[in-house]
Amino acid sequence: MINLLVTGGAGFIGSNLVEYLLENYDDYKVIVLDDLTYAGDMNNLKSVTDNSRFKFIKGNICNAGLVEHIFTEYDIRGVFHLAAETHVDNSIEGPRQFMETNLMGTFTLVSEAYRHWMNGPNEVKLGYEKCRFHHTSTDEVYGTLGETGLFSETTAYAPNPPYAASKAGSDFIVRSYNRTFGFNATITNCSNNYGPHQHDEKLIPTVIRKALAGENIPIFGDGKNIRDWLYVKDHCNALATVFHEGRAGETYNIGCDNELDNNYIADKLCRLLDEIKPKEQGSYVEQISYVKDRAGHDRRYAIDATKIITELNWKFTKNFEEGLKETVQWYVDKYAE
Ligand code: NAD
Repeated sequence: MINLLVTGGAGFIGSNLVEYLLENYDDYKVIVLDDLTYAGDMNNLKSVTDNSRFKFIKGNICNAGLVEHIFTEYDIRGVFHLAAETHVDNSIEGPRQFMETNLMGTFTLVSEAYRHWMNGPNEVKLGYEKCRFHHTSTDEVYGTLGETGLFSETTAYAPNPPYAASKAGSDFIVRSYNRTFGFNATITNCSNNYGPHQHDEKLIPTVIRKALAGENIPIFGDGKNIRDWLYVKDHCNALATVFHEGRAGETYNIGCDNELDNNYIADKLCRLLDEIKPKEQGSYVEQISYVKDRAGHDRRYAIDATKIITELNWKFTKNFEEGLKETVQWYVDKYAE
């Protein structure tokens, strides 16, 4: 059995990843380290809590003593690092926590993994040659695009909100351990995800929740901000692909050429709700309302995923219409509970 550490495993993508790893790799034991902040939820892990290859540890990734103990106690042989503060609006209100978790938390994990796997620069301990640290990051580090163009792995970093700046910094911390110490690390920068287990605060759950509650559905500004929407399990598959087959020290962008603006997303979700859970009168679309734009709201993100597709043969499989319909059904069931 190979012991892997997944940080942030009680969150949206982390919990989907834990399910994905346990389902697809029989020789992995998955140890989750998650502090169960407001964004973490043990319900996200209920499908795996009885699995003997799963272990949950509540704790903060900034706690060096705890992280060191976990590496030693479980002899961790690989890390998927997902724990982070992730909500852009919160980073505008209170950036400090983003710097602590996303920068110092990443530093703590990387430095403990380095101590556990290596004797010094470019000197891997015997038996630890295959150990890898995978850092999960976002396309937001690249800043914003105009009407054309795509983010590639060579696009210069230009993060705008504090969330993006903290993620950019965390990418550079991981990069520096690879370049300076020969530490085996990979990085991915992914576009917006959708699917089950996402926190209520994010766009898709918010639209569904407000619609079902009969409240105004708030859309920032003119609703024309564009994101490339990827199904969360396709992201998990990409993370596993890079972890297993990516080249050490490399960055891979993940996206699926599915650029949609918030108006389209809100309208589509309302139409799906009209089918799945019709209102007595009218359409949920009538509840859409526009609110003051987010400060410094990035206009457009779009990913060029050629590298992961051609080099690692990765492809996404979920059709957007199908994925969104399943997602709406999942939240309808959740909010009915
Ligand atoms: P999330 O907010 O749903 O989950 C974050 C998890 O991290 C929570 O379970 C939380 O309890 C935990 N956590 C936060 N601070 C912690 C700390 N100090 N110590 C231990 N645990 C802590 O986030 P998500 O949407 O699942 O994102 C996961 C990762 O993927 C993040 O690194 C994010 O930057 C990245 N990412 C997300 C998206 C997206 O669309 N959601 C896209 C690209 C990249």
